[in-house]
Amino acid sequence: MSRRIGILGGTFDPIHMGHLITAEIVRVSAALDEIIFIPAARPPHKENKGEAPAEDRLLMVQCAVEGNPSFSVSDIELKREGPSYTVDTIAVLSEQLRGAELFFITGADAMNDLYRWHDPVRLLHSCTFIVAARQGVELDESRLAEQFSPEQRSRIRIVPTPHLEISSTVIRARVRAGRSIRYLVPRAVELYIEERGLYRAHDKKL
Ligand code: ATP
Ligand code: MG
Repeated sequence: MSRRIGILGGTFDPIHMGHLITAEIVRVSAALDEIIFIPAARPPHKENKGEAPAEDRLLMVQCAVEGNPSFSVSDIELKREGPSYTVDTIAVLSEQLRGAELFFITGADAMNDLYRWHDPVRLLHSCTFIVAARQGVELDESRLAEQFSPEQRSRIRIVPTPHLEISSTVIRARVRAGRSIRYLVPRAVELYIEERGLYRAHDKKL
């Protein structure tokens, strides 16, 4: 049987327990063998607005998944120049992970905007979508029905996930304000942020 691999993209600035808990719930519910976290590139001008450089975002994901054989991280989007289209990332991964069945994990909010993505129809043919449906964020089924055929929509699965009020934005704000982020991120990530002085108001280091 082919390996079932989940792909979780994000800026991971920084990765937090919301990402990890959601990934684990989806992995079990959708019977996935593993999850690959893929930090996204950002336009260079965005990288110095109190946010962390790509290298640090990648290393923080590495810290977070270390020791879990079901989780790993790929630098595929960071190695490419500029931001990547998901459809291209999936194509490269299918090539690399020959024979694996790919599942792209996303939130309901992103899914509602699928028609605005680059080449969504090709994307729906190249992987199965798993919508991590958080309470309070509804999937707009009627809009999806207007944009995509029943066959295309059959590539979208919904997995209920708990609603965790944690975001990278909240974590960056707490660090900036000198407040604790303990238990919001893995311990190793907390230490990394502290050591590197990331997200601090006066830190000009990139
Ligand atoms: P930011 O606050 O900077 O927007 P974020 O917390 O939303 O960051 P991203 O890296 O943008 O983190 O998210 C990557 C993916 O994880 C997205 O699909 C997003 O919907 C999902 N995600 C983020 N936070 C949570 C959470 N608390 N629970 C479930 N999924 C989440
Ligand atoms: Mg976000």
